[in-house]
Amino acid sequence: MNTIYIGCHLSVTKGYEAMGKTMLDFGGNTFAFFTRNPRGGKSKELLPEDAAALRSLVDREHFGPLVAHGSYTMNLCAAKSETRENGLDMLEKDLVRMEQLPGNFYNFHPGAHTGQGMEQGIALIAEALNRFLWPEMQTTVLLETMAGKGSEVGSRFEELREIIDRVELKDKLGVCLDTCHVWDGGYDLVKDLDGVLTRFDKVIGLERLRAVHFNDSKNPCGAHKDRHEKLGQGQIGMEAMRRIALHPALSGRPFILETPNDDEGYIREIHTVLGWLG
Ligand code: FE
Ligand code: FE
Ligand code: ZN
Repeated sequence: MNTIYIGCHLSVTKGYEAMGKTMLDFGGNTFAFFTRNPRGGKSKELLPEDAAALRSLVDREHFGPLVAHGSYTMNLCAAKSETRENGLDMLEKDLVRMEQLPGNFYNFHPGAHTGQGMEQGIALIAEALNRFLWPEMQTTVLLETMAGKGSEVGSRFEELREIIDRVELKDKLGVCLDTCHVWDGGYDLVKDLDGVLTRFDKVIGLERLRAVHFNDSKNPCGAHKDRHEKLGQGQIGMEAMRRIALHPALSGRPFILETPNDDEGYIREIHTVLGWLG
């Protein structure tokens, strides 16, 4: 039986346990949230009581792992030193805070090398991870596959492999596969899903694929645009989205919707996916 977990991105403004309750109402069993304002800035305070309440809800309701998302402004390989320092500071603090929700995922965009070249981008990202991961941490850090917009690092599986190769604490690292991003990056999930996953396995290893961002795309394969679309309304289409959700290689992972939806739309998409799972 296929056992993916399904949920969507939620707002943290009402607190952490509140997100768990919202997801129960939505009918899902995992969710994602920004560790701080997505455009940077301050993080929502995570009070010990609130964290404990969410942990017990997640246990009781048999949720899958949660997928926290680092800020979009966190760029660990920015050319501008102020921007990079700011990113390093966010990474350090986010990872410490995540220990209040042990056993979950922290996903982030690897970075944009902003003209320094892919090689230097990869080196700087790995250096940051080597600085802030520690052996006893209970979070798995996920590098997100990117669409390849501008100077983004991580739109080729090989780039993510190179980052992982350079990180000492490899057992703390995984990858979050964003379906819109890999499609935009040129991996054809419609005509060759098996081929794409085989390629991922060869280059990175499927055991490192720990979470999926489950999005349709507004643009054709290889467009390098990164514009998410509702399930079935984009260029990937419903049939391919269904095949992805049911693919045995992805079984057991949390699938997070980051589609352009209001609450009603997310509830509908969660139930669509649950319907596929039977
Ligand atoms: Fe993302
Ligand atoms: Fe994503
Ligand atoms: Zn995206």
